Parts: sequence; structure tokens; C-alpha cells
Amino acid sequence: MANKIQKQRGISLIDFLENFDSEEKCERYLEKLKWGKGFSCSKCGGTEYYRSKTKTNRLFYRCKSRNCNHRNHLLVGTMFQATKLPLKKWFLAIYFMTQGKKGISTLDLMRKLNVKEDTARLMKLKIMAVMESREKTSQLENLIQIDDAYYGGKHEGKAGRGSENKQAFLAAVSTDEKGHSLKVKFATLKSFTKEGVANFAKKFLAKGSEIYSDALKAFNFFSESEDYEHQQTNMSKGNKKENHQKFNSINTLISNLKSFIGGIHHSVSSKYLNKYFAEFQYRFNRRFDLKALPERFFYTAVHYCEPSTLYNLKYQAA
Ligand SMILES: [Zn+2]
Repeated sequence: MANKIQKQRGISLIDFLENFDSEEKCERYLEKLKWGKGFSCSKCGGTEYYRSKTKTNRLFYRCKSRNCNHRNHLLVGTMFQATKLPLKKWFLAIYFMTQGKKGISTLDLMRKLNVKEDTARLMKLKIMAVMESREKTSQLENLIQIDDAYYGGKHEGKAGRGSENKQAFLAAVSTDEKGHSLKVKFATLKSFTKEGVANFAKKFLAKGSEIYSDALKAFNFFSESEDYEHQQTNMSKGNKKENHQKFNSINTLISNLKSFIGGIHHSVSSKYLNKYFAEFQYRFNRRFDLKALPERFFYTAVHYCEPSTLYNLKYQAA
């Protein structure tokens, strides 16, 4: 299975560039996603329109309804709202972040797109915000391995080994019967309490699932809850190798996540950590269909986007 995924062709850079090498082509593409199945004026609901362009050459539909004349801008309400950058740069950034197995660093993006470092950073944050909003809408189900972990600090490892400068997070993966990873969720939390685990479960773990965890006290939430089946393993008892094998998938994913973040940035501020988690998750959870990934992303960017300002991207508590 893994081999099949790794050898997927995806979309070649050369094809992508050819499809989106002008503003016109990028706008046409977004136009089709936004209004391809029918136009409805955001002010009056009218369905008749003229295609027109603004002074800065951006597409809008002018409503034909009498007394309305509303300009429905293509980019308003999408992740590209109010951008001054050429769309083709955005498109390319989205390509790199959805097709590259490891995403792309800010500096690399800066060089590849010929933009300022701050611009590249903001583009990444915006793209990650779309991924994050999408990831919030789905839950893991059936068989689930869960574990506690830390990001950052001098020593990475389990709870109780000194958590200075470390950010606690929970990691969960749904698996098939053989223990192969299906989908994954990560999220930061203040500390490993039952309440923290309950919050995570409510958001990300479907009721009725069977949860596999170690003996961390906070995981008792699952034994006490009527919503989950709980299989708890005391790692210090019994066969060490067997115990370890039970959590093979989640341990591998935590280590892949850490090397993904570490490989791209030396350190990530904990307020952005959930965004990096979302980026990793977004690609991992859609890895079975690499080719469809950019299109699915664009669809979300056009239809399900809360326009994010620089302010709330920078200061919003993660
Ligand atoms: Zn109208």
C-alpha cells in the first residue's frame, strides 16, 4: 500500500505551470469553481450578470437585476480576497504546499516565487489556515491509537522528563485491522489532563470508536466515558516489544511530524504549531489521491474560506 502511494504521479510541475501561467487562466479556473454551477448575486440573489473587469483588471460579475447592479467580485469571500499578488504566484505556492511531500519552507518559497520573505511567510500562513479549517471538519473513527507528546525544548520525549519550553500535544491515528495508518490528527493542549483529552476527543474522535492508549492518567477519560471503548496498555508491564508494536503507527507518525517541522524550520513558535500540524495532516490524510489535491484545495479556498486577515493569522491564539 505504501509503495503505491509513494509512486503516485500527482501533477507534474510542468503541467501545472502550463495550466496556470497567466492571470486570465487562474481567474478562469476560480470562476469555474465559484460560479460554474450557476451564479447568484450576493446582494439580491439575481442570477443574470455581465462579466466585467475592475480598473486593476480583476474579474467581477455585475448583477443584471434592476436597481441592484451589484459587483460580485471573483475573489471576495475566497482566500485570495484583497490580495495584491498575482494569482499565478498563489497558485504555485499552493502547488508546492499540496504536492510536495514535505511542503516548502518560507525561504524556499520566497526564492521560487520571487517575493519578499514576509510575503512568503504570510502566503504559507494563509494556505495553512485553509488546510486547518478543512481539517477541523472531520473526525477519526473506528480503531484509533492515541499518544501524548511534546514539541520543542531540549529533550524531546514523554511527559515527566522536564517540560520546560515544550509544547504538549496529542496525536491520534485511525488504523485498519492490521494497524496500518489511515488518518491522523494532532493538536496542542495546555497539559495532559482528562479535560484536555476530552476536548480533543470531542473535536476529533468519533463516538463509538475503540481507543488504544498507554496508561497515562489523562487517558482514563476514555474508560470513564460512555462514548468510547478503551484498551489501555501499561507500557512498563508485560512484553516490551509487543507493547511497543501496539503503538507503532502513532509513534512513527509523531516522529515523521517532528522531522517534517524540524526539516523545514529550526523552530516553530507554539502559537503556529497547530497550523504546521494541519499542514502535515492535510497532506497525509489525502495522500491516497495526490492528483486531486490542488483542485480540492482550491475548491475549499473558494467556497469554505473565512477570509483571514494578517492580524488574525499572526495573533489568533492557536
Ligand atoms: Zn443583485
